[in-house]
Amino acid sequence: MRFEGKVALITGAGRGIGRAIALRLAQEGANVAVVDLNGDNARDTADLVRNLGRQALVIQADVSDPDAVQHAVNQTIEQLGDLHILVNNAGITRDMLIIKMKDEDWRKVIDVNLTSAFLCSRAAVKHMLRKRYGRIVNISSVVGLAGQAGQTNYAASKAGLIGFTKSLAKEVGSRGITVNAVAPGFIPTALTEVLPEEQRAAAIAATPLGRLGTVEDVANAVAFLASDEASFITGQVLSVDGGLVMQ
Ligand code: NAD
Repeated sequence: MRFEGKVALITGAGRGIGRAIALRLAQEGANVAVVDLNGDNARDTADLVRNLGRQALVIQADVSDPDAVQHAVNQTIEQLGDLHILVNNAGITRDMLIIKMKDEDWRKVIDVNLTSAFLCSRAAVKHMLRKRYGRIVNISSVVGLAGQAGQTNYAASKAGLIGFTKSLAKEVGSRGITVNAVAPGFIPTALTEVLPEEQRAAAIAATPLGRLGTVEDVANAVAFLASDEASFITGQVLSVDGGLVMQ
């Protein structure tokens, strides 16, 4: 029960990796603010959290909207009583070769994947600084480390998250707040189901551990970084990719 008495806000927790993180933290005692653009999915995740005996707050919000983010953080603190853990997980892809990429495809991916982490962290850190405690985990990607043709927008957002993680870790470390990133490899979710079978097979072939990851693999790493066991770890990028990318 590593998260007994803790409150976690998880963005993009309506499905996929975000939902798995919400359930993993709830299993170990956390009360959870489930933030997602999709209200129905957020409500389903919240029901699963409540089935585990924890409190859940549903917040339907666009995490790239500054006012919505501030409101989400305020609501979490008011209704769940505190905010100890922030997981910046919401993310999208708009894959396209650069010569065909529209301005909107670039901006949207940067806004949802990177600017959202700035907005959520800024709002959460104000509270965490006062409490002298906080855990922030940003969900990056192996694509942010190694690059991927057709994903210049996505790779830039995910590499940006790594620089953001390290800088914020230096800024707030003296106040008991840690900031780390997790870089998942290929994880079957709705986000990746659109990818061709050959790409899936190629990912398995290139992975030393010989399989794709699961949402639980990622959630376990997030739980570790969000726990007090990781209290001397900050500014790090933990790859959860079966050895696909070795730094
Ligand atoms: P997913 O599409 O299943 O889930 C993403 C969730 O984010 C959805 O519930 C969606 O509604 C929500 N979301 C999207 N835009 C939002 C916005 N503007 N405001 C609030 N919520 C929003 O994807 P996933 O595979 O679970 O991915 C989760 C994170 O993990 C993403 O950041 C993704 O880039 C990252 N990631 C995924 C993989 C993978 O292989 N699946 C690999 C590396 C990194």
